[in-house]
Amino acid sequence: MGYLKDIKSGKRKKPDKILVTLRRNSDGAQAVYEDQHAKLEDDHWQFCWFAHNHSCDCNRGSYFAESAGEPDPDHDCSESKYSVIRVETPDGKVLFEGDDRVENPYYGKVS
Ligand SMILES: [Zn+2]
Repeated sequence: MGYLKDIKSGKRKKPDKILVTLRRNSDGAQAVYEDQHAKLEDDHWQFCWFAHNHSCDCNRGSYFAESAGEPDPDHDCSESKYSVIRVETPDGKVLFEGDDRVENPYYGKVS
């Protein structure tokens, strides 16, 4: 993970936000959510999005609606309605591409 090394060595200024493309799996619609509180250090963003709060459909549904300009669907907790299919920094560095409901990069990494 070169970008982490760069951040730790001070070569790269730590981004303060990431762009997360969410796909609503019922109809395939996509929306890009701006996560303003992401921390790239120590892969914290992966923990947030693929294992913790941001991995749950109740939160992803709200983020999707906010980004798409739709009313909040107020989803119950579940883990199949919204996939993260792309994560990138504002300067265009792709951190993740795929479908985290098919292959979770966080658990995939630690197993
Ligand atoms: Zn939930």
